Amino acid sequence: MSSYDYDLFVIGGGSGGVRAARVAASLGKRVAIAEEYRYGGTCVIRGCVPKKLFVYASQFHEHFEDAEGFGWTVGESRFDWMKLVAAKDAEIARLEGLYKKGLAGANAEILETRAELVDAHTVRLAKTGQTVTAKTIVIATGGRPNPHAALPGHEFCISSNEAFHLEELPKSIVIAGGGYIAVEFANIFHGLGVETTLIYRGAEILSRFDEDLRRGLHEAMVAKGICILCHDTLQKVSKGEDGLILETMNNGPLQAGVVLLALGRDPNTEGLGLEEAGVAVDERGAIIVDEYSRTNIENIYALGDVTNRVQLTPVAIHEAMCFIETEYKNNPTRPDYELIPTAVFSQPEIGTVGLSEEEAGKRYGELEVYRAQFRPLKATLSGRAERMIMKLIVDAASRKVVGAHILGHDAGEMAQLLGVTLKAGCTKDDFDQTMALHPTAAEELVTMYAPSYRIRDGNRV
Ligand code: NDP
Repeated sequence: MSSYDYDLFVIGGGSGGVRAARVAASLGKRVAIAEEYRYGGTCVIRGCVPKKLFVYASQFHEHFEDAEGFGWTVGESRFDWMKLVAAKDAEIARLEGLYKKGLAGANAEILETRAELVDAHTVRLAKTGQTVTAKTIVIATGGRPNPHAALPGHEFCISSNEAFHLEELPKSIVIAGGGYIAVEFANIFHGLGVETTLIYRGAEILSRFDEDLRRGLHEAMVAKGICILCHDTLQKVSKGEDGLILETMNNGPLQAGVVLLALGRDPNTEGLGLEEAGVAVDERGAIIVDEYSRTNIENIYALGDVTNRVQLTPVAIHEAMCFIETEYKNNPTRPDYELIPTAVFSQPEIGTVGLSEEEAGKRYGELEVYRAQFRPLKATLSGRAERMIMKLIVDAASRKVVGAHILGHDAGEMAQLLGVTLKAGCTKDDFDQTMALHPTAAEELVTMYAPSYRIRDGNRV
């Protein structure tokens, strides 16, 4: 029996922390987990899950419009924001309960308090001031929205955290940023009837995605009525008589009921006692870890967004499972970051896995690019002017598909399955030999027989 109070103490009850605590406890370890806010973390409480529920809510007005083409007459429709927020909150509370139930079922001790390191084996529980000791500590405290403190008037702006609990739906919103959160919320608010402007510093939104999809999504969003201002930034936000007044660098003054800043997320490491424990952080405050998620202190690990590796829920969960293998199963396992499928729940949606055309062009001598752009079947009767884009990037030498990119309905669902094929190293010939499933949009992925163009040494030929 060790002299510590616990075998494992986990700080942070988000996706990564809960997984590490629950699985360690189910292996018979004496585990405690502390969370200062709500179990479930960003993903469940104020991120992926409530966001996706809002995405569904924001799509109904288009469904009502589309219905007419299929013979339906839909009566007058009305949207009640507070009803949506309440329904979403009830679902989130249910999920939070499930997280706790899973922990309790595995015999992990659930602590509802902030916890801070005192030294490499000691943790102080903020609620009671009590200190406890553990042989191993996992820090999984996640991240929080970058407040953009350099922006005069940033205190009048909200982040995605507050967007989930606005007391009323504003008439207009300006969203700063061009990443996942900015783009997803622009589509959500526009879909709910809010006059929406996106302001982004770069040349095109979603800088890390394939150029074709970025352009296609931009055009589709503008066609819906979202105003996108690229090459621009907010200079100042102040309170006016009727809402907020914004100064921009290149587009003159703007007005908005709400300004949402979605400019990336910072790791939650302040006041955690990292210095006391000797845990090293980088210049952004993220905990530095080795390839097994171990910090510079032998018995302290860190995983998920607090390490600023890849800020995605399934990645944090994977890192937790690798930690379990490494620490408790005598099977040192490095998280695998190759070929992570990802989706942007914009409208239309983006689903992608592997390399963009630009990245692949830098890595491979010759590429074949297969590209299809078409009107989905449903849009024929609905009359909606929408186009899907599908794109496969193939290394000409090995025939391997190294990137798959989709813009359109259910792109995220398709990207998950494409992830399996790319991970398995499927070639374009494997795609060609797969029978099409008709009529679906996804059948395009296995029926693009001739390359649309080639890329040689990074140039289109
Ligand atoms: P992102 O990193 O996706 O985007 C941040 C955006 O802010 C970029 O457009 C960036 O521009 C811009 N930006 C950063 N700093 C400044 C600045 N000082 N001035 C002006 N613009 C700035 O972060 P998000 O906040 O959107 O999301 C955080 C993370 O959460 C994501 O990276 C993602 O990993 C995760 N997430 C995943 C989702 C999903 O899987 N569907 C949904 C939501 C979040 P530039 O591109 O030029 O650097």
